[in-house]
Parts: sequence; structure tokens; C-alpha cells
Amino acid sequence: MKKSKFLLAILAIVFTFTLTACLKEEHTHTWTKWEMTLAPTEDTVGTKQRKCTSCDEVETAEVEVLTDENVWTLVEETEATCTVLGKRKYSNEDFGSVEVSLPLVEHTYEEYTLTLEPTETTSGLAKAKCTVCKEEAEIEVLALTDSSVWQLVDQLNPDYTQAGFNKYESKFGSVTVEFNRLVAPYENKTYTSFNVDASSDDVPYKNGK
Ligand SMILES: [Zn+2]
Ligand SMILES: [Zn+2]
Repeated sequence: MKKSKFLLAILAIVFTFTLTACLKEEHTHTWTKWEMTLAPTEDTVGTKQRKCTSCDEVETAEVEVLTDENVWTLVEETEATCTVLGKRKYSNEDFGSVEVSLPLVEHTYEEYTLTLEPTETTSGLAKAKCTVCKEEAEIEVLALTDSSVWQLVDQLNPDYTQAGFNKYESKFGSVTVEFNRLVAPYENKTYTSFNVDASSDDVPYKNGK
């Protein structure tokens, strides 16, 4: 009698467990809507999650990159300037909208004024003004022999009769390097009087006075 009661109790427990197990197996998840948990960027995917309303099971999946036109629509775009960040706004009806900012673009320098002329061996400086934001900047200008910047446009080699020059041009303007006329070796010599410091009085003529 006691034994069978115990057995019954065991059976009841086993039955309950089996029943719950069965129920759980047959349970069809009732999912909430996907919710974006990490917004994607233009080149990295995001994540989304949904939950079962009855068992709290969570499912995670990827959200496509913003440039995926099957998922996202570009609804707004503002180009960046040299002072204001640009912006792109993408939208999706489930996830709402995501904004990305675009980096500043370089200043647009068009007119330069050389403030320190470069030479053939040393760099110089130029002042430039951005045509968009009017900001002024001082820029290093490479030496005249750097052909990525300067072009030798005219040249005259110096000789014994005339001076010479190298004329360079670039977006920074033009610079002329002048060379002195060559000097022949004899030209340098100045044949003036000999350097006689001693006055005649001091000259020790033995047979004189
Ligand atoms: Zn569930
Ligand atoms: Zn600017």
C-alpha cells in the first residue's frame, strides 16, 4: 500500500515532466518584430534581434550594409565641404533610419603667393587661400629641382660674355635663378702697384746716408 502510493507519486512526476517536454517540443515560437541592436554602416553589417513572446528565446541575425539597395534606401545626402561634415541618411521601414557622416574634404586652394622663394636646393613657402571657406594657409613649396612641382621653362647658360638663368614655373608662380657671368682666371687678378709699405727713409741703404 505504502509502496504503491510511492510508485504513483513517481509516475505522476515522470508524467508531468514528459508532458512539459512534449509541450515545449510542440511550441511554435511567437516572434516579436526584428529590432535593430547594432546599426550597420556603409561597409560593416549590423545586428538585429527578435524574441519569442512565450519562451523568451532570442534570435540574432545580421542587418545588411547601408549600401545594400534591397534593404536600405538613400533618402538624404549632403556633400561634405572643407568645414562642414557631409551626411547620408538611409532608411528602412522596419529599422527606421540610420545616418552616417562624411569626412571633411580638402580645402580648395587655387591662388598661391610665394612668401619665400624656393631655390634649387632649398624649399620655400607659399600663402594660399581656400576658395570655399577663405581660410588662409601657409604651404611648404618644394625646391625648384623637384619636377613633380616645378618645370624648367627657360634656360640660359652663363659664359664669359653673359650672365645666365634657369626659369621655373609651377602653380605657385615662376621663379628665376640667376647665374653670374663666368669670370676668366686672368680677370680676377688686379695688377695695381706693388705693396710697398716702407717709405724711402726706412729703406736701409747701407751706402746711402
Ligand atoms: Zn518560444
Ligand atoms: Zn576651405
